[in-house]
Amino acid sequence: MLGLMQEWPLLCHKILDHAGIQHAHREVVSRSIDGPIVRTTYAEIRQRALKLAQRLERDGYRQGDRIATLAWNTARHIEAWYGIMGMGAIYHTLNPRLFPEQIAWIMNHAEDKALFVDLTFLPLVERIAPAVPSLRQVILLTDAAHMPQTTLPNAIAYEEWLAEADGDFRWKEFHENTAAGMCYTSGTTGEPKGVVYSHRSNVLHAMMACMPDAMGISSRDVVLPVVPMFHANAWGLAQSGPMIGAKLVMPGARMDGASLYELLDTEKVSFTAAVPTVWLMLLQHLEETGKKLPYLKKVVIGGAACPRIMTRKFEQNYDVEVVHAWGMTEMSPLGTLGTLKPECEGIKGEALLDLKAKQGHAPFGVEMKVTDDNDRVLPWDGKTFGRLKVRGPAVARAYYGGVGAEQFDDDGWFDTGDVAHIDASGYMQITDRAKDVIKSGGEWISTIDLENLAVGHPEVAEAAVIGVRHSKWDERPLLVVVRKPGAEPAKADILGFMEGKVAKWWLPDDVAFVDEIPHTATGKIQKIALRKQFGDYRLPTDSGLLQEGETL
Ligand code: AMP
Repeated sequence: MLGLMQEWPLLCHKILDHAGIQHAHREVVSRSIDGPIVRTTYAEIRQRALKLAQRLERDGYRQGDRIATLAWNTARHIEAWYGIMGMGAIYHTLNPRLFPEQIAWIMNHAEDKALFVDLTFLPLVERIAPAVPSLRQVILLTDAAHMPQTTLPNAIAYEEWLAEADGDFRWKEFHENTAAGMCYTSGTTGEPKGVVYSHRSNVLHAMMACMPDAMGISSRDVVLPVVPMFHANAWGLAQSGPMIGAKLVMPGARMDGASLYELLDTEKVSFTAAVPTVWLMLLQHLEETGKKLPYLKKVVIGGAACPRIMTRKFEQNYDVEVVHAWGMTEMSPLGTLGTLKPECEGIKGEALLDLKAKQGHAPFGVEMKVTDDNDRVLPWDGKTFGRLKVRGPAVARAYYGGVGAEQFDDDGWFDTGDVAHIDASGYMQITDRAKDVIKSGGEWISTIDLENLAVGHPEVAEAAVIGVRHSKWDERPLLVVVRKPGAEPAKADILGFMEGKVAKWWLPDDVAFVDEIPHTATGKIQKIALRKQFGDYRLPTDSGLLQEGETL
C-alpha cells in the first residue's frame, strides 16, 4: 500500500518561493564587486531569478544545459543559481583559483553553453573563452554603465540583459532527481572530476544543514557565508539561508581580515563559515586592532583541520562558539559537524579543545564507516583508523562521465579518500588523506596530527608533514616549517616541543625550513609538490644501509 500524501517534488526553486513569501523583506546584503554595499531582499531576488529563467529560455537555453558561473558570493550570484535551476538548466560553478587551462578543460568537459562572470575575472575569461567552443554567451555581472571594453564577441551586461524580461514566468516542473548543479573537485591528483547535484539532494542537504545539531541557523540569524559559492556550494548556505529565512551578508571579492570585520560588525552577523586560512587573517586583524566580536555567536570552520589554537582564541578571547566541520564536494558538501551532544556536558578546558579538534558527528542523512584495506569494518573506539566511507541522499553515487568508478562500491558506499577514526559517541576525526598518510614500518602515522602539533609552537607560522623514503622504515616523517617573521626556532626546539604529545615513533626524523609551503587552488597544502621538492631528501636517520640483524 502506498501512502496517501501529496507528491511535492523537492525542487530548489521552492526554497526561493518560500523565502520570497515567508521572509519577503529579509535583507540580502552584498559587497559589490565595484565596492559599495548593496541591499536587496528575498522577494526581489525571487523576482529577478524568475526574469533570469525567462530570459535564458528566450535565448534558447533548455533543460539540462550547463550554465557556468565564475563569480564571488553576491546576491546576483544567488539569483543566477536559482534562475538557472528554475528553468531546468544546471548551474556549474567554476573555481577562479584554478589554472586557466584547468578551467577551460572543466568547461569543455561539462560543455558549458553560457557563463555568468564577475568583472574581476574578465581577463581570465578573455583568455579561456576561445578554447571553449560550446560557449555561446558571456553575461558580465554588471550594468551598462560599468560595462568594460572586451575582446569577447558575445559579451553582454547582465542588468541590460535581465531588463528585457518581465518576470512573467512559471518555474518549470520536473522530477526531483533532475540535475540542478555541478562542481568539479579540485583534483590534487589526476583530472578534476564532476559532481552533479540534484534538486532533491540540494533540498535535503539544505534541511540537514539547518538542523540545530548541524549548523543550527534560524530566521533570527544573520549569516555571512565567506566560504565561496564556487567551492563546495558555499557549504549549502545559499540554499539553507533562504530556506529558513536568515538575513544573508555576502562578502563579494574581499575576504581580508579588515573587510570581513567591517561586515561582521556593521551588519551584526551572528553566524559565519569559512576555511581556517580566512579565520587566521581575521584573528590577526582583531589582535592588531584590539577589536572584539560582540554580535558573532558561532563560526563553522572546515575544509581543512581547524587548529586547536584557533578554537581556543575564538572561544576564550572572543566568546564565539567554534563548530569544526568536515565535508567534501562529493557530499554537497557537509559530512560531520562538531556540535556538542549531551554526553559531552561537563567536558571543559583542554579536554573540550581535544573534542573540538575532532571533525564531529554526522547529521541525519550521512552514514559513515571506517574500514581497513580489506574492507573490514573497524571499531568505533576513537583510535583505530582506516578508510572513511560514507553514503546518503546528498552524497555522489558517480562522477560525471563515469570516471573514478573505483571510489564507489556496490552497496552505495563512497570512499572519501580520507583516513579517520570514530569514537564511541560518534565523533569522527580525520587523521589524513589516504594518499598522504605515512607508512612507517607497516604502521600508519597521521600527518595532520603532527601538523596540528607543530603549528602550536609559538614561532611556527605553518607546518606540513610528508613521508620521505627511508631505507629501513620505508617512509619516515619530515616536518616542513615556515617560521613566523623574525623568529629563528632551532630544529631541536620544535621537535622538543612535540615530544611527549604523540607516540615517540611518530616524531619527525628531521625539520626543513622553507619560505613558503605550496597550496592548491582550494587552499589545501599541496603535498604532491612538497613530496617532489623533497624527493631526494636524505633523512639524518637514514644511514642508507640496514644494520646487522635488521630487516625491512
Ligand atoms: P573539497 O572537496 O575540495 O572540499 O575537499 C574535501 C577534502 O578536504 C576532504 O576530503 C578532506 O580531506 C579535507 N577536509 C575538509 N574538511 C576538513 C577538516 N575539517 N579537517 C581536515 N580535512 C578536511
